[in-house]
Amino acid sequence: MFLATRRRMFLFSTLFALGISTAWVGSARPLAGEPAVQGPSARPEAAIRCEGPFVQGGTTICQAPPGSRIQLGDAGTTADRDGVFVVGFDRDSPAMEVALVELPDGAMAEYAFAIERRDYSISRIDGLPPSQVDTYTESELRRIEASSARKRIGDASRAQLSGFRERFSWPFEGRKTSPFGAQRILNGVEKRPHYGVDIAAPKGTAIRAPADGIVTLADADLYFEGAMIVIDHGQGFLSKYLHVSRIDVEPGQFVARGDRIGAVGSRGRSTGPHLCWRLKWRDRNLDPEMWVE
Ligand SMILES: [Zn+2]
Repeated sequence: MFLATRRRMFLFSTLFALGISTAWVGSARPLAGEPAVQGPSARPEAAIRCEGPFVQGGTTICQAPPGSRIQLGDAGTTADRDGVFVVGFDRDSPAMEVALVELPDGAMAEYAFAIERRDYSISRIDGLPPSQVDTYTESELRRIEASSARKRIGDASRAQLSGFRERFSWPFEGRKTSPFGAQRILNGVEKRPHYGVDIAAPKGTAIRAPADGIVTLADADLYFEGAMIVIDHGQGFLSKYLHVSRIDVEPGQFVARGDRIGAVGSRGRSTGPHLCWRLKWRDRNLDPEMWVE
């Protein structure tokens, strides 16, 4: 089935050239704009639908038969008992991605996403301590490694929750100081892009959960992040809160939208009190601002 999929790729190219997103099932042929359901495997309930537009850094909620398994590049997920699943498009996602969907009875369906490209700004920060940019002692490297291991545990969560379904609220009101996706140049050294939205606020400002979820990490000793809280809003759709001065929750704790989870701070690699707010689906870095109501 996957080989058959590859043979169909030229069809996608044609569709994308036309700017058409479509879905089809089994051997049915695509129709522009509508899921095509024809032939022996025709089952109207097998249609896959996703809410566009599809944009780099964007989040999309889709509908498929409950229990369907979805593969989008390296990332896999499962439609919940209502048939709902979430996917995200990385900061640098390609212009097209095809979701392969294994329906509960083993039949395959596909959904093609034409993904809009974004332009990102450049953000320069100077005056950071070298130990926070590119010069590490052996004990610092050990701390960085230990931090990464603990972060991986927080990232591995795949809770059966549905907090992701509704658009998020802001964690607090503040001034946005650095947008998602900016190319970072720290002390003149080109580093990874900025994978969050920075919001400035006085130290101690309450941070509130933007949606229901379960806390998967609440760690006060991370090398770059300083102190970080991570919430799984369902299916591994994770929001992250970096540099916090106080943590009010613990791993395993359920939080509801609006619950206080911590307070703004400036720990780790930070030049002043602010929240770096991040959003992730699998290894993909998403723009939280695009999922705010
Ligand atoms: Zn940030």
